[in-house]
Amino acid sequence: MAGTKELLMLENFIDGKFLPCNSYIDSYDPSTGEVYCRVPDSGKEEIDAAVQAARRAFPGWSSRSPQERSQVLNKLADLLEQSLEELAQAESRDQGKTLTLARTMDIPRSVQNFRFFASSVLHYTSECTQMDHLGCMHYTVRTPVGIAGLISPWNLPLYLLTWKIAPAIAAGNTVIAKPSELTSVTAWMLCKLLDKAGVPPGVVNIVFGTGPRVGEALVSHPEVPLISFTGSQPTAERITQLSAPHCKKLSLELGGKNPAIIFEDANLDECIPATVRSSFANQGEICLCTSRIFVQKSIYSEFLKRFVEATRKWKVSVPSDPSASMGALISKAHLEKVRNYVKKALTEGARIQCGEGVDELHLPARNQAGYFMLPTVITDIKDESCCMREEIFGPVTCVTPFHNEEEVIQRANNVKYGLAATVWSRDVGRVHRVAKKLQSGLVWTNCWLIRELNLPFGGMKSSGIGREGAKDSYDFFTEIKTITVKH
Ligand code: NAD
Repeated sequence: MAGTKELLMLENFIDGKFLPCNSYIDSYDPSTGEVYCRVPDSGKEEIDAAVQAARRAFPGWSSRSPQERSQVLNKLADLLEQSLEELAQAESRDQGKTLTLARTMDIPRSVQNFRFFASSVLHYTSECTQMDHLGCMHYTVRTPVGIAGLISPWNLPLYLLTWKIAPAIAAGNTVIAKPSELTSVTAWMLCKLLDKAGVPPGVVNIVFGTGPRVGEALVSHPEVPLISFTGSQPTAERITQLSAPHCKKLSLELGGKNPAIIFEDANLDECIPATVRSSFANQGEICLCTSRIFVQKSIYSEFLKRFVEATRKWKVSVPSDPSASMGALISKAHLEKVRNYVKKALTEGARIQCGEGVDELHLPARNQAGYFMLPTVITDIKDESCCMREEIFGPVTCVTPFHNEEEVIQRANNVKYGLAATVWSRDVGRVHRVAKKLQSGLVWTNCWLIRELNLPFGGMKSSGIGREGAKDSYDFFTEIKTITVKH
């Protein structure tokens, strides 16, 4: 462990000020396994202070016009963009993802989140109707909810945090955000830009620490009427329990066990590289990653051969290597968890086609203790296996054959999750038919991860409650009121 002096020390950001904390948690560089940063281990006291600040800031911020708030968001987007390289370097070091991905996806998308909601908030109108026979006019108004509690995970740290902060403040709320304790650095860097962008003190408060301590203090606080959460299903259960006595507004964006369905008429030249990416992008640590690949029997052998070849070329390397496709997993515990799934599959009689235990991983000496793992393809596995039912959230995907459309829809739907699916076929009618029958909040056909931020994002079944997106986020972060005027 490095000397304390060399460690990056984060502070909470409450009421426009950076404040130290009584205790701290170690944060690790996933590519070396070394502690490099210390994160405040906040609790109830810090949440109480943040609530007071957010309460004081609410009247002023919520009474600004959407145009005024929009200007602030645009300015913040510009400042983030100016720091893109610095933020990308920090995100890659903190999370283990490749620097290329942080540069081309995480940080640009964080910038876009502010720009997008700066614009979209200007385009809502209320509804208005008349009932002539009763001499009444009815209209709706939307008002911000109040103090929004925002809790985000470690896989896309700044990207997912700003996807919540931007719509919440655009709609006039003040916020208390709690990033993952495993990846807090870019959220802390964001705090340094808030004042310069014109965000008044108390509008955005960021409180760092663990879920059971500071997360629960936030969720249980009676003055926080809304919780927007992205993370795992077991945590969502706990948050739901804690929120229930207060009837809080809840948005839950949870995990997935996402199928890719590949029909015999698929364009394999496009499908194979896209499915390698959908399985292993960001080390497979994206809620939308493919982890069950159903391939029609007639092309199964050809697909598997080409898919395994392409997976072997998906290079695992240190995050700063420009030729790396994949970096390190988030933590030692997570690496162990993912590896255990592969071990379990082996004991069930499955075959490992490439990756863990089959191929060799070459790393520089200083990265030997990092949390690296090769992309792994499993076959000969039953649908009942935990690898086919549970979210692994790592670089492991299962490939299995199917015979016909009806069968594959039933098998794809036969898990508790319902977040994302991909369908590969040149038959337009089939694509529409299958997409409609899949129990999934998102279906990509002949592509993956192409996002239109205006449209609803979210899952069904155990993948969540509610949707995020232009109108959906605005609806969530506001309360609607119907007013009737008799004339
Ligand atoms: P997690 O549930 O462990 O943690 C998420 C956040 O909740 C963290 O900030 C954590 O500190 C906090 N938390 C933990 N326990 C808490 C508690 N008792 N009360 C309040 N807060 C608590 O999830 P994770 O491991 O950080 O992230 C991985 C999960 O997130 C996966 O399941 C993945 O699919 C999901 N995810 C979903 C989406 C989506 O949009 N649907 C996006 C990204 C990740």
